[in-house]
Amino acid sequence: MDYQVIVIGGGAAGLMAAIRAAERGARTLLLEKMDRPGRKLRISGKGRCNLTNAAPLEEFIAHFGPTGRFLRQAFHRFFAPDLVAFFEESGVRTVVERGGRVFPVSSQAQDVVDALVRRATEHGVNLRPRSPVRRLLVAEGRVVGVTVAGRARPFRAPAVIVATGGASYPRTGSTGDGYRWAEAVGHTIVPLRPALIPLVTAGTVAPRLQGLSLRNVTVRVLVGGKRTAEMFGEMLFTHFGVSGPIILSLSRLVVDALRNGQAVTLSLDLKPALDEHTLDRRLLRDLDSQGKRQYRTVLKGLLPAKLIPICIEQTRIPARKVAHQITARERARLRRWLKDFRLTVSGHRPLAEALVTAGGVATREVNPRTMESLLVRGLYFAGEVLDVDADTGGYNLQAAFSTGWLAGNSIPLETEDERTGGR
Ligand SMILES: Cc1cc2nc3c(=O)[nH]c(=O)nc-3n(C[C@H](O)[C@H](O)[C@H](O)COP(=O)(O)OP(=O)(O)OC[C@H]3O[C@@H](n4cnc5c(N)ncnc54)[C@H](O)[C@@H]3O)c2cc1C
Repeated sequence: MDYQVIVIGGGAAGLMAAIRAAERGARTLLLEKMDRPGRKLRISGKGRCNLTNAAPLEEFIAHFGPTGRFLRQAFHRFFAPDLVAFFEESGVRTVVERGGRVFPVSSQAQDVVDALVRRATEHGVNLRPRSPVRRLLVAEGRVVGVTVAGRARPFRAPAVIVATGGASYPRTGSTGDGYRWAEAVGHTIVPLRPALIPLVTAGTVAPRLQGLSLRNVTVRVLVGGKRTAEMFGEMLFTHFGVSGPIILSLSRLVVDALRNGQAVTLSLDLKPALDEHTLDRRLLRDLDSQGKRQYRTVLKGLLPAKLIPICIEQTRIPARKVAHQITARERARLRRWLKDFRLTVSGHRPLAEALVTAGGVATREVNPRTMESLLVRGLYFAGEVLDVDADTGGYNLQAAFSTGWLAGNSIPLETEDERTGGR
């Protein structure tokens, strides 16, 4: 055999898998189809790379939803503190920011990529960029190697780790190849859907608010009129609809609801810190103390400027009406609007624009203790190619690093006898 393990894909999962395998002494080949590894890592976290999260294990796993259970073993072996220690040893110091998000102190995702490549090279990984794998070679139920485009002779190895990523941001190299190979050898592929995806809203309200970012709001998701989820934090209006951290995190369930043909509405609570009663008292006070001012002027103390015209339209209170003439019924309308500003979701952006792909290789067909396929011996999966995905906050990268580490840690090392053919 040419190598003891071939890792396909030089992203977070593949680099970590190759490093761990090589660290254990395995002759390791890492095949990356792009001109250099780590392209998605380089743009992650807006170029700052939110590489994990400081949340405790149970809370961490909860951020994956139902697919999180599969990761328990991987996290048990290699979790956030191990990852932080790994990077510290590699010269990348980290810092914990708001929401437990962990970033490199330098705020440079490239430092993370460089450290991984350096560690891989130090351990003797043969890293080959511009090497697009075409096919997995499987004989008698076990993997024996891979073929690479433009190369006549296949690479042979008794273990292959597929770490080809998802199907979003294809320009970073992740074009979904791993799903096709897995399916071809009998694996179930849970339907691919965009996760962490901006949402498209009906009408002109969002485009008129384009660029407006709201901090400290609560967004509720109504599916078929029923409240199904809510999240507090930051969101953003765009030319097509809404985005930002809480929208991306809520998008998973919105996408699934839309796919089921259900109507989805977002209800924005612009004053989540105030209950209806307290908000009413605040409005009364504002309207009283500014009795001679016009409605549109009073709103300046309550809302960002861009929202004022929308508020005026939707509360149906004339902009120039003076505050002391505003009736109790009108005030109730304003209060309701501030607590329940609605947007109808008409769709979502395409899979190519998702931060993460939901769906993928069904986890029930993969051994959670090793990441080895339960169908093909010697075949391993790591990272986003698996059917796991989480909220924003560093959880997805930790899953890629942990499953990569576990796969690299699990490939069998041949004995000296096997290597020399018993000579
Ligand atoms: C814009 C953006 C920002 C993000 N920010 C964060 C963040 O801050 N924190 C976080 O936790 N998550 C973030 N994510 C998600 C996170 O980046 C991914 O979940 C993670 O990179 C997945 O790692 P992976 O190794 O499985 O796949 P990838 O990083 O996608 O790596 C797969 C690699 O396989 C290679 N490959 C594919 N097919 C072949 C083939 N046929 N032959 C050879 N090589 C192949 C690709 O070129 C690629 O290099 C972000 C995603 C995006 C798109």
